[in-house]
Amino acid sequence: MYDVKSKHATEFIDDAEILETLDYSEKNKNNRQLIESILERASTCKGLTHREAAVLLDCELEDLNSRIYELANEIKHRIYGNRIVMFAPLYLSNYCVNGCIYCPYHYKNKHMKRKKLSQEDIRREVIALQDMGHKRLALEAGEDPVNNPIEYILESIDTIYSIKHKNGAIRRVNVNIAATTVENYRRLKEAGIGTYILFQETYNKKAYEELHPTGPKHNYAYHTEAMDRAMEGGIDDVGLGVLFGLNLYRYDLVGLLMHAEHLEAVYGVGPHTISVPRLRPADDGINPEDFSNAVPDKIFEKIIAVIRLAVPYTGMIISTRESKNMRKRAIELGVSQISGASRTSVGGYVEPEEEDENTAQFDISDNRTLDQVVSWLFDLGCVPSFCTACYREGRTGDRFMRLAKTGQIQNCCHPNALMTLKEYLEDYASPETKRKGEELIAKEVLKVPNEKVRSLLIDHLKNIEEGKRDFRF
Ligand code: SAM
Repeated sequence: MYDVKSKHATEFIDDAEILETLDYSEKNKNNRQLIESILERASTCKGLTHREAAVLLDCELEDLNSRIYELANEIKHRIYGNRIVMFAPLYLSNYCVNGCIYCPYHYKNKHMKRKKLSQEDIRREVIALQDMGHKRLALEAGEDPVNNPIEYILESIDTIYSIKHKNGAIRRVNVNIAATTVENYRRLKEAGIGTYILFQETYNKKAYEELHPTGPKHNYAYHTEAMDRAMEGGIDDVGLGVLFGLNLYRYDLVGLLMHAEHLEAVYGVGPHTISVPRLRPADDGINPEDFSNAVPDKIFEKIIAVIRLAVPYTGMIISTRESKNMRKRAIELGVSQISGASRTSVGGYVEPEEEDENTAQFDISDNRTLDQVVSWLFDLGCVPSFCTACYREGRTGDRFMRLAKTGQIQNCCHPNALMTLKEYLEDYASPETKRKGEELIAKEVLKVPNEKVRSLLIDHLKNIEEGKRDFRF
C-alpha cells in the first residue's frame, strides 16, 4: 500500500502507485485542459505531484511541450538567476565488492587496476584541484568495507579540509559513497560534509535486483531507505539521482519524485539536489547500447525540464558524462550545478592514467579544462559560482529552503557567487577568461537589489583585488 510517510521502501516507492500513475499519464497525454492546468500550477513555483509531473513527461501536444521547456527556463531563472555552481569529483578508491553490471568497479572485473589513494596521494590530488580553482568536491568511492571503511573516508575528508595551498581551499566536501548506517552518517555529518549523495540507479525493485546481482548493494530496501538513515544521522542536505538508461525512464522519474515527496513529508525538507546521470561506456565492455532502456537526447531534455517544474527549489546537477552541447541545453532547462575538468580515474588529477590501467569509472564526454568551461559559461551569459557560503553559515536543510523560498537569493547567493568568481579570476583564470569575467561582474553587481549589500559587495570585490579572500553573506 502506498504511504508517503512510511519508513519502508516498498511503501513510499509503491510499485502499484507508480504503475497507476503511468497509466493515468498515458491516458491523459493529450488532455489539453488538464495539461494546461498543471502548467498553470507549475508557474507558481509551488512544485508538482508525481502524477502531474508524469502527465507532463508524457504530453504529446507540441505547443504545450514547447510551453514546458519555456516554463522550465523561466523558473530556472526566477529561482537560480544565471548562476551555475561548479564542482569536481574526487575518486578515492575503485575497490568494490559489489557486482553492479553497468559499473566497471564490479569485483569480477579482474583487469581493472585497483587503486586507493593514500592521504599523501589525496594531498597531491587536492592541490591539483585547488590549482585549477575548485572549491567544492564530490568524493567518490566503491563499496568495500575492508579497503574503504568509513574511517578511511573520514580521514580523507579531514585531510582535504586541512589543505591550504596558496590561496586555495576546499570549502565544501560532498560525499557519494554506498548506503551505510545511521551511526556512520552521524560521523560523516560530524566530519563536516556538505551533501550526502546516493544515486538510486533505478526505483524498480525487480530491475534493481537484476542490475545489482551480488554484494551489499543488492539489498533494495537498505539502499532505498539510505536517505532516511542519513536524515536520522543529522545530514539534512541529501542528493538523489537515477542512472538513466538502466530502466524505463518514465518509471524512474515517478519513483524519483515520490522519493522527494517522501523526504518532504517525513523530514519537512526535500532533497537538496537531484543528479541526472546517463549511462556511459566504461571498461570491461560496458556499453549503453547493450541496455535496452537508453534515453535519447530529446527525452533526456524533457526529463530535466519536468524535474525543474516538479521540484523548483531543488538544485539539479549534471556531470561531464554529458557533452558540451547537452550541458548547454541542460543549463537552459534547469540544471544549476555542473562539474568541470573532471577525472573519473583514481589519482587522475595528478597523473592521467596509463592506457592499460583502466581505473576510470566511465568515459567522459566533456574533456575541457576548468578555464575553458568557465569562459564558455561567460559566453552563455552565466555566472560560474564557487560559492559554499550556505553550508558554512549553517544554512542547510530547511534553513536553505527558507532562504530560497523567501526570494533572498538575489541579495545573498548572487553577491556570494560574484565574490567567489572574483577570487577565481584573480587566482586561476587565463588573461582572456579574466577579461571576460571582469566585464560580467561589472554588469552583474548592478543586479543586487539591496543597496547596502551592493555597496558592501563592491568593497569586498576591491578587497579581493588587494589579496584578501573568503568573504560571504
Ligand atoms: N559506490 C557508491 C554507490 O554504490 O552508490 C557510489 C559511487 S559510484 C562511484 C557513483 C555513481 O556512478 C553510481 O551511483 C552510478 O550511478 C554511476 N555509474 C556507475 N557506472 C556508470 C556508467 N557506466 N556510466 C555512468 N555512470 C555510472
